Amino acid sequence: MPGRSLRFRMMLLFCMVVGGLLLGTYAIIYSMFAREVRAQLDRQLSEAAGPMVADLAQNAPEEDVFQLDLPDQYLELLTASGKPLNMSRNWREHPIDVGSLNFQDHEPIFRTVQGGRGLLRMELIPFQLQGQPVVLAMAGPTRDVETVLLNFRRVLMILLPLSLLLTGAISTWYVGRSLSPIAELTEHAARLTRAIAAPGQVDIKAPRLVSNSTDELGHLAATFNELFSRVIAAIQQLRQFVSNASHEMRTPLAVLQGETELLLSERREPEEYQKALEVIHGELRHLSRIVESLFTLSMADAGQLRVANDALYVNEVLEEACEIAVPLARSKGISIEQNLEAGIASRGDESFLRDLFLVFLENAVKYSPPNTRIKVNLSRVNGCARVQFQDQGIGIAAEHVPHIFERFYRAAGSDAVEARSGGLGLSIAHAIANAHGGQIECRTAPGHGSTFTVTIPVTSNETPSAE
Ligand code: ADP
Repeated sequence: MPGRSLRFRMMLLFCMVVGGLLLGTYAIIYSMFAREVRAQLDRQLSEAAGPMVADLAQNAPEEDVFQLDLPDQYLELLTASGKPLNMSRNWREHPIDVGSLNFQDHEPIFRTVQGGRGLLRMELIPFQLQGQPVVLAMAGPTRDVETVLLNFRRVLMILLPLSLLLTGAISTWYVGRSLSPIAELTEHAARLTRAIAAPGQVDIKAPRLVSNSTDELGHLAATFNELFSRVIAAIQQLRQFVSNASHEMRTPLAVLQGETELLLSERREPEEYQKALEVIHGELRHLSRIVESLFTLSMADAGQLRVANDALYVNEVLEEACEIAVPLARSKGISIEQNLEAGIASRGDESFLRDLFLVFLENAVKYSPPNTRIKVNLSRVNGCARVQFQDQGIGIAAEHVPHIFERFYRAAGSDAVEARSGGLGLSIAHAIANAHGGQIECRTAPGHGSTFTVTIPVTSNETPSAE
């Protein structure tokens, strides 16, 4: 049934199953009822024949019973070989063929025979009359029984289609109601697809599926709500990311273009070329840093960040990072105080870990006023290396803290401090920490400084020289 809807197919299946069951049930009920009604007719015949046999056994075959002319009672007395001895008037007028007289254990025989005025139910009772074996045949019409059965069949013939119709109506309603979230889901998915595909569509809203039920469809609706929200969030994040990235690159590119145009517009003094090349070099470095950061982040997103698993000492890597940061800090009169526990072995990528520590060191320098102090602590806590970078800088307002690890996010106030902030440092730090099974925490108070804590798992008895 290729073109049919699920609703139609379910309804059809429902009706077929219920119809089959009803048909079977009705057939069983009918056959039980018919058997009971026929057994009752047989009982009635026996009840009427019993006293007559007793009467005949005492009196002659010429007994009065054969003179009685009851319209629905046919009587005949036969010898054991089937020769008629006496019969009622209606039997004489419409002779009935009694058939064979083979009795088992002298038990009466019941059979249905064709009479002159329709079908008859007949009982043949063997008994002894004056020492001779004889048979009394007694028959009555089955007309009443057949009428009752016909009426019963009619009722069933009306009931069956009615039940089917009712089943069809209820199943259509129920299936339709149950499947409505799926129809809604399809509509929402189509709407979402159109919204995503539409050019210039900036504000895409996640459609909400309404389903209060706690059954499978309710769970499906909830799952799709979640999926829709995530898809929308991912699309918006992607769009935002692309727009931020291009915005970020626009400034250095504009500077590069301006500088080169200036140089090319007329012949310049060697010092001017030297100065312009320094600017160009600085912008190019800035650009390549952005591109490198974006590459690292996209590799991390794809789960393809190639992180070495070398044995190393965290304190040594941290010391190197501090050494690199010292000149930058000194240029602002900032001192870096190190308190590093020695011999903390771990596994990871030395270069990435150095970059990770440099992000916090450079930020601490960037967002601290001149002549302040940065404290760097390293200790082993609960099987992890805990590195803390504590500065006396501008701090971060509480509403910005949940977002500082997002790409290109800059907390308000940071622009004033540092013009060349890229907004990618903490995102990269987060990706590197993640790749090393580590975590980052931030405690900060505006105007009082910030403390970033990085936790990385350590190895207890491995040493880098063992590699
Ligand atoms: P950026 O290149 O702008 O520093 P980051 O991702 O490294 O980008 O940091 C995101 C934002 O978090 C920064 O713009 C700044 O507002 C805030 N921030 C990070 N580190 C510090 C810090 N040590 N002190 C104050 N603010 C900080």
